[in-house]
Amino acid sequence: IVQWTPFFQTYKKQRYPWIQLGGHQGNFRAGPTPGTILKKLCPQEEACFRLLMHDVLRPYVPEFKGVLEIRVPEQERNSQESETGDKCVIADDTNKNTIVESYLQLQDLLGDFDSPCVMDCKVGVRTYLESELAKAKERPKLRKDMYEKMIQVDPTAPNAEERRLQGVTKPRYMVWRETISSTATLGFRVEGIKFNNGGSTKDFKTTRTREQVTEALKRFVENYSHAVPKYLQRLKAIRATLKASSFFTSHEIVGSSLLFVHDANNAGIWMIDFAKSLPLPANLKKIEHDAEWQVGNHEDGYLIGVNNLIDIFEDIKNS
Ligand code: ATP
Ligand code: MG
Ligand code: MG
Repeated sequence: IVQWTPFFQTYKKQRYPWIQLGGHQGNFRAGPTPGTILKKLCPQEEACFRLLMHDVLRPYVPEFKGVLEIRVPEQERNSQESETGDKCVIADDTNKNTIVESYLQLQDLLGDFDSPCVMDCKVGVRTYLESELAKAKERPKLRKDMYEKMIQVDPTAPNAEERRLQGVTKPRYMVWRETISSTATLGFRVEGIKFNNGGSTKDFKTTRTREQVTEALKRFVENYSHAVPKYLQRLKAIRATLKASSFFTSHEIVGSSLLFVHDANNAGIWMIDFAKSLPLPANLKKIEHDAEWQVGNHEDGYLIGVNNLIDIFEDIKNS
């Protein structure tokens, strides 16, 4: 779902509506200086950005410019949880009518583009943490909102018990969701695409087969054939750098995206969204990132997704 975030961004003296392809709308604000945006602080994500600024991956992530605390009116406070994201609200109560919210100050990746086309691909064979699965098994909580979303896509998806209770658990919903998209099979899924010709947007929840995904990516680069070799080069550079990265070796990367951005002249890809990227547990030295996930082995399938993206863009280049 493409969200029309209600703020305008200024960069190079231009003013443009900022584009947000995923996540909860209230998680983002315009930054204090042109070319920066603010994302609601999540301590895990902050820790990742601090490491990434000293890692070989630095050129492939938005620049992290520190934490910013801002005081906002109580009614602007956003406590709603995004569908898959984690709730990360940090507040104090020194003043009854205002609260302090902490934000990560990040480079706006759209800043160097004129009228960009943007695509968010969520990478990995699963988008939930092992800990979330374990927690949900302890105390299964029924989610009516997720049940509603499920039957909207496929009325036959809930089983008899779930229909009776009119609810599903979060991991059940997430496991199901990953089987209707390409996440489980290709190791990535398209979360959203925004073309620069206005409103043209699409729902990719059930874009699952390699053919369907190829069609979506083809449409994304339609009339921008210069972007295809640039994307391929960038993806290959990311893959090579991941293999040399100590951050990548030591972290399980879940729910993170590759953000594709192109305009008439340029094209770039960056890794974003590290709210669910966690250091491996102490008993695990490393993971392969391209091995099959089994509960407990922490494999995320990140490289499966990158490899498939490269294969599909090669197909597009040769077609
Ligand atoms: P979720 O966990 O549901 O995916 P989130 O709240 O963690 O969402 P992100 O995935 O980090 O948020 O970002 C949501 C969207 O905002 C992205 O798809 C992208 O369109 C935009 N975005 C995020 N970071 C940047 C950035 N540094 N520059 C430009 N756009 C960005
Ligand atoms: Mg997130
Ligand atoms: Mg995201």
